[in-house]
Amino acid sequence: MTYHGRFAPSPTGKLHFGSLVAAVGSWLCARHAGGQWLVRMEDIDPPREVAGAAADILATLPAFGLIADAPPLYQSQRMAAYDTAFEQLREADLLFPCTCSRSQLATSGGIHRDGQCVTAGEPDRSPAWRLRVPDVEVAFDDALLGPQRENLRETVGDFVIRRADGHYSYQLACVVDDAFQGITDVVRGQDLLESTARQIWLQRCLELPTPTYRHLPLVLDGEGNKLSKSTHALPVDPCEPTPTLRRALAFLHQPLPSSVTGVEELLAHALADFDPALMPHCSGSSVT
Ligand code: GLU
Repeated sequence: MTYHGRFAPSPTGKLHFGSLVAAVGSWLCARHAGGQWLVRMEDIDPPREVAGAAADILATLPAFGLIADAPPLYQSQRMAAYDTAFEQLREADLLFPCTCSRSQLATSGGIHRDGQCVTAGEPDRSPAWRLRVPDVEVAFDDALLGPQRENLRETVGDFVIRRADGHYSYQLACVVDDAFQGITDVVRGQDLLESTARQIWLQRCLELPTPTYRHLPLVLDGEGNKLSKSTHALPVDPCEPTPTLRRALAFLHQPLPSSVTGVEELLAHALADFDPALMPHCSGSSVT
């Protein structure tokens, strides 16, 4: 099967350095494998989105030499596929409606378990739909971090597939689209490691294939916090991509040419000796 990798940003702000590292890491792995590199715009959460961010991210990637092999897939245009997956789960009796509030779930650490709602359904409130999660341990090998295992009942319980506001969850959309795009290898930041067991479990429920996962260390700021759009990390500057791309490659432990070159040469230089196993795997790396 041909390697298919992807970069899947959410348009909650402009591309920042942490996201650039994930984009470059996934691009290098895909190109090294002679595979396809795809971009998916995860625009299914309008309350969190920033107007213009999707277009901005898509215009910024090529400035860093990151050219996708197909037009971007927009999750906002994939509702019919999520509806189908939702019905498949519902017909298999794997979903239930739930109107439990956060405060009602506080006594169980915010976790909903065993399909047992704290409240009887409230007819005038629209429910969220949760997946019935059994007492199951999901194990997988992360290509960078090694063996991982998680008991989903303990850690997340019955997780939300469709929110009360009608929006599908990231977990469902991600799993449906990774399968739709034929993704064989997911390379992304370690902040998403905690989603992986849920995604693998959903793949099993929907009879979809499980890709290989490789979670890259997060870029931290000077205070040890993850760079993120929500903490207003500075966007990368597409007008001056070379120094930033050098920093991204250095963060990924890739060799840099000593001469001053453009982004294409920098990427080609990194690719020439690229070994995915040599990318860093310890969490907490920081870059100034
Ligand atoms: N859209 C997610 C984010 O920007 C990433 C999803 C993924 O790579 O699976 O954090």
